[in-house]
Amino acid sequence: MPTADNRPIDHNTDPFDVHLEKMPGIGSVRLEALASVGVLSVGDLLTYIPRKYLDRSEIAPISELCEGEDVTLIADVTSAALVGHGKSQRYQATLKDESGSTLICIWFAGADVMRHIIAKGDVVAVTGPITAFRSKLQMVHPEIEVLSDPEDPDLVHMGRIVPIYPLTAELRDARLNARGLRKTLRDVLDRASPWLIDPLPEPIRILRDLLSWPDAVEKIHFPESMKQALEARKRLVYDEFFEFQLELAKRKKASMEAKAGIAFTEVGPDFERLLKKLPFDLTAGQKRVLTEIREDMRTVVPMNRLLQGDVGSGKTLVAVLAMLIAQANGKQSALMVPTEVLAEQHHTVITGYMDSLGISTALLTGSQNAAARRETLQGIANGFAKIVIGTHALLSQGVEFSKLGLVVIDEQHRFGVIQRHALRRKGQVPDLLVMTATPIPRTLAMTAYGDLDVSILDEKPAGRTLIKTIGLRQKDHEAALKTVREAASRKEQSYIIFPLVEKTEKSDLASAKQGFETLRDGPLKELNVGLLHGRIPPDERDAVMSSFKSGTTDVLVATTVIEVGVDVPTATVMIIENAEKFGLSQLHQLRGRIGRSDRPSFCYLVVDDRSVSPEASQRINAMLETSDGFEIAERDLTIRGPGEMLGTKQAGDGQFRIADLRKDADILTIARQDTLRVVFG
Ligand code: ADP
Ligand code: MG
Repeated sequence: MPTADNRPIDHNTDPFDVHLEKMPGIGSVRLEALASVGVLSVGDLLTYIPRKYLDRSEIAPISELCEGEDVTLIADVTSAALVGHGKSQRYQATLKDESGSTLICIWFAGADVMRHIIAKGDVVAVTGPITAFRSKLQMVHPEIEVLSDPEDPDLVHMGRIVPIYPLTAELRDARLNARGLRKTLRDVLDRASPWLIDPLPEPIRILRDLLSWPDAVEKIHFPESMKQALEARKRLVYDEFFEFQLELAKRKKASMEAKAGIAFTEVGPDFERLLKKLPFDLTAGQKRVLTEIREDMRTVVPMNRLLQGDVGSGKTLVAVLAMLIAQANGKQSALMVPTEVLAEQHHTVITGYMDSLGISTALLTGSQNAAARRETLQGIANGFAKIVIGTHALLSQGVEFSKLGLVVIDEQHRFGVIQRHALRRKGQVPDLLVMTATPIPRTLAMTAYGDLDVSILDEKPAGRTLIKTIGLRQKDHEAALKTVREAASRKEQSYIIFPLVEKTEKSDLASAKQGFETLRDGPLKELNVGLLHGRIPPDERDAVMSSFKSGTTDVLVATTVIEVGVDVPTATVMIIENAEKFGLSQLHQLRGRIGRSDRPSFCYLVVDDRSVSPEASQRINAMLETSDGFEIAERDLTIRGPGEMLGTKQAGDGQFRIADLRKDADILTIARQDTLRVVFG
């Protein structure tokens, strides 16, 4: 048994360092139950925040209730029983209070359990909205609390705003139910308040108009008004962000002071030479971003930059120009992309630029044959290949660079942090440029990528037309095919996208292969139709892509292999079959394959009414309402939540106990500014 040590705790002891066993009155059963929800220290308990509050500052008499009101009342249980059978089984209790009127409370969910919670003869406090059923007032699934001693109205539980906590079976078994937790918290707060201090510098607290920490932990549990509860939450959220960002800022400072990177002092002649050869000027955005990159590369501090730009904003060219700077300083560059199709396309495009400058490139993917692979690896190792483009095959053991100086990672959201660093380790602290085409909401950028500097390409090259996006039912499909035929007659190409490669037993989604055959032999038999999916061997895939690029193929039936990066400016129509099956950022990426010239473009989202979930229709609506990638990213975050959005915990979801990245962007922003000021002065 731990013995409670009764010595007073020092004034500036960190409450997160004080184990709860130091608090008298919390026995081992409760300590264990609290540990099971991650609450070990006094600080943990004080920041175990309510999931909601009940306003019990006013107790309503039953005789005066009206439908639609949200109320708390105290009453006797005059009868309580399970009624009905099977699906319609429910637990029903009749309450009667001093006003003499009665009210029925009903539980459908957990009816069986409610039997053990309230019974005839109890005195209860119930809180919830009043509804009417056949003109009788009732409460369905109210919050309920059985009052142990109704003669002694305890102010912790009544006559005020009371907290409701997230509960688990372990907590309940240790009698840390709503009441138990509230009592424990009141007790610990009273014991701890004499020595709690605020670790945040006073000037910041005042500048940001935040409650002090001791105030915040008091008010988060026992607020006098809902406004106070919100202020308390704001302070605690701020602290979570502050702590997290402080770590990032310190790491950044350390890397700046280490000066361990490469100083690319030369820009070299090829940079200007390539610019002169381009048939267009750089956009203002590209120029701005390149200035940032050049400055990063010039210094000995390793570049750590995230380049966010919507689809088609011209990120590839920015990367190519950065690679020329590396080349001018005698270093190799590596570009890692998520798919083979994209690697091949980038290789073709970049080789096109480099050939005229006499700079050699190499392509490395998983499906190259052994001989080609050996030759490529040699060129990478002896430094002949100056620019290496590849998939995650670049990360494999046998790949050794002669002098890797710049790592570019395209479409970063597909790669995790680990892969980002794995490629980097193939050189001596090379500079890093991460590019993403799916803009990341501000909050995620500051958490998942908080260690990166961010550049934003927020404009598209001039002369691009808006894409018209149209939602269609399956049965109205012909309208879309008509547009495809019209486009072909103008020598423009179309994509038709299907969710799966082959029809599987599990799903009856139209598959690319089947769709291809049906379209080629039926409604599109006058046109040249091609098929592209991930299981087609690389050389065949090349042939399919170049035939589509050159316009020999009018229509490309494809899976999402073309989702990222594929660039065919004369493609102006896209039909996405079973659009309800795709994620929002995926839809946005797909749509980004068209609208790449000044010709009008059309995107049809074909949905199968039978399988549209509410979330799917939110996604489709977002697509119909906006084509702004940043707006799409925010919508995606609201629909899916941060964890889902980036696929892993690294996203920052689950990293915060109190903060919600969807709601707390503003607090995150100020916390970030403050940590930077604290660390960098
Ligand atoms: P992203 O990778 O950002 O989606 P890309 O780099 O594929 O975009 O560029 C899309 C297309 O725009 C390419 O065909 C590219 O050659 C072209 N492009 C790039 N920069 C410009 C510019 N400043 N003006 C006109 N076209 C440009
Ligand atoms: Mg790209």
